[in-house]
This record gives sequence, C-alpha cells and structure tokens, in this order.
Amino acid sequence: MLTLVLNSGSSSVKFALLDPRSSEVRLSGLIERLGSDAASATLKTGGEKKQVTLKDGTYASAFGLIAGELDALNVRQEVQAVGHRVVHGGEKFSGSVLLTPEVMAALRECIPLAPLHNPPNIAGIEAAQLAFPNLPQVGVFDTAFHQTMPPVAYRYAVPESWYTQHGVRRYGFHGTSHQYVAQEAARMLGKPLEDLNLVTAHLGNGCSATAVRGGHSVDSSMGFTPLEGLVMGTRSGDVDPGLHDFMARQAGLTLTQIMTALNKESGLLGVSGLTNDMRELEAASARGHERAALALDLFIYRLAKTVAALSVPLGRLDALVFTGGIGENSELVRARTLGHLGLLGFKLDEHANQRAVRGQGGLITIPGSTPALVVNTNEELMIARETMRLVALNP
Ligand code: AMP
Repeated sequence: MLTLVLNSGSSSVKFALLDPRSSEVRLSGLIERLGSDAASATLKTGGEKKQVTLKDGTYASAFGLIAGELDALNVRQEVQAVGHRVVHGGEKFSGSVLLTPEVMAALRECIPLAPLHNPPNIAGIEAAQLAFPNLPQVGVFDTAFHQTMPPVAYRYAVPESWYTQHGVRRYGFHGTSHQYVAQEAARMLGKPLEDLNLVTAHLGNGCSATAVRGGHSVDSSMGFTPLEGLVMGTRSGDVDPGLHDFMARQAGLTLTQIMTALNKESGLLGVSGLTNDMRELEAASARGHERAALALDLFIYRLAKTVAALSVPLGRLDALVFTGGIGENSELVRARTLGHLGLLGFKLDEHANQRAVRGQGGLITIPGSTPALVVNTNEELMIARETMRLVALNP
C-alpha cells in the first residue's frame, strides 16, 4: 500500500512515494526549473541519488518521469492513491477531500486568495489526474487544520463587508505540519491529544505558531496570507499596515514593490543584510556581526511574544513544540526563546537541547518545567495518511 505525495509549485514539484503505515519512503525527489527547457529532477531511492534531465518543462513530463520511475522500481501496482498538497482551501475546506470535478471548481474559486500558489497546485493536480487516471486523488490543505479557529481568532477588526464580500479573515497556514507535530507530541508525552493544550512552532524559511487545544487549532500566527505573524527568512511578519501608504509617499514605492520588499527582502535577510539562512546568521552573529545579532534577537523575541500570546486561548499551556528546519536544529533559538518564557514555567535542559538536532527529537526541559520538545515534522507522511483515510472513506 503506497501513496504518491505531490507538492506542485510554479517551477518545481516535490514528491515522495511512501507507505503511510510504516512511513517508509520508497522514492522521493525534486523536479526543478519547470516551465523552462532546463528542467531536471533529483531522485532518491534507498540510499542512492541520481540526476535526470526532463525532455521539456511541463508537469506532464514531470509526472511521466515519476510514472517511469514507479515502473522501473516495479511498484506501480502497489500505489493506491495520489495525495496533493494544496496551499489555500479558503473557508470551503475544513479537511482533506477527494478531488472530484466539483471540488476542482471550488478550488478554482479559491485562486484569488492564493494567486501565486493555488494555480500551480491546480495545474499539478490536473496533470497528475491525466498521468495516473486510475488512482484516486486527494487534496490536503495547508489551511484546513485552522478552520476550527473561532471568529474571535479569525476575524480582523475591519469593515464587515471586507470579510463577507471578499473573504478577508485570518486563515492560518502550515496546518499539515502543526497537526502532525501536535499528534507526535502527544505520543511522545504519553498523553491523549484530546487532553493537551499545546503551542506548536513551525520554524523554517516560513514560520508560524499555533495554539492547539485538544488536537484542534484555536489560533495561529499567520493570517490572511503567510506574511502575518513571526519574523521569517525573508518575510517581515507583523508590521503596521500604515507603513504601506507611508513608504508609497515617502520613498515613491508602488504597492507591488512594497509587497515584494515585505515578502522577499525582509525578515532575517532584511534585518541582517546578510542572509535568510539561520545557520549562517548564527555563525555571523558569533563572529560579532551586529546586524546578524539583531536579526536573531528580533526573531527570538517575536517568537517568544507570540508563544505567550497563543497561551491565552489555551488557558493552560501543557507543552511547547519546536519543529521545521530551525525548530529541529537550532539549539540557540530554542534556548533563547525559552529564556524569554520563564513566566510560562519553562526551564531548559541544556544537554537535552544540545542533543536534539539533526533528526533527534525529544524533551528539552528539566523535570518540573512546562515541557518543551523538539518534534521532526513530516508533512509528506501526514498527507499520505490523510490520503489513505479519505480513500478508505470513499471506497
Ligand atoms: P525549512 O524551511 O524547514 O527547510 O528550514 C530552513 C531553515 O532551517 C533555514 O533558515 C536553515 O538555516 C535552518 N536550519 C537548518 N539547519 C540548521 C541548523 N543546524 N542550525 C540552525 N538553523 C538551521
């Protein structure tokens, strides 16, 4: 029983073929530079890696290549379904769905909410339906997990018609990861998820934190778009909306230039002037690079403030979960974040924190502390599990 998981972006497709029960990955890869005539794929099977050039830069040839690999591995018959990562499901999707023609139509209606992400997701689904016509296809949304947020968490204090006519509200993202690590954290803590109040912090190039009560998202730091909330690699996170108008008048920037700056030239990169890569920033800061140190300080301070804020809807904080490239690897970010959060009862276990790197998860606080733990996220596995759950529900 294998599931093919696809994440179709505008110029790339990330994929994995895995067994949702054992979590064994049989084949994985990244197809890059789609849309150009230099498209190529990196494929991994077992311990081996190979590079292949595509005959053209279309999704059809990308999925043709994957289909060919399934045949070469002699596993085509074992593949039961295809699971797609879809960025934005708006208010229409509060869970994963079988991708029927009606669902595809509803997905197209969500395009204005995610004009950069949903069109390639949809194009990828359509191409996969042609490449694998006999397999059920399931959509798993980044936003769905957060549809349990109450109005007080998802509404903005803006004119109501913005919400009712245009869907301006907070949606939240990274839902698949937050849901997965919440489940894993419950397993690691040996407690039922229903009884736990968690804050999960997904810290990668994009960063978001979520309040998870009894397994359900009740608030999250990302909002209408993935720009709101924490400081990220190149995204600003929260800013005063008044600065758009000010920078347009003062610096003569267009709205497009302002949005590009906030999305691509801000965050760790903007403050440090150096890089959006946390590893490089830590090294530069240790060498005395002042702007790198400030970028780190800002990232950590804002994260700690957000964790404290997200404890409000929980009433009681049972554990803080770190995940994503930074959360899973940066002992410095974790230690300093907990350092700001003494008021929530966190006491770091330095040795455990140092050990929790490179795929080694676990508790990083001492007995008597509010628990903080490192959980390695696995969005592909979560999508594969969701896909098989949906297939079982729709035999
Ligand atoms: P992701 O988007 O989840 O792949 O995470 C990417 C981020 O994780 C980048 O900022 C990396 O610098 C960061 N990262 C990966 N490994 C480490 C590490 N050992 N220490 C600090 N940051 C790391």
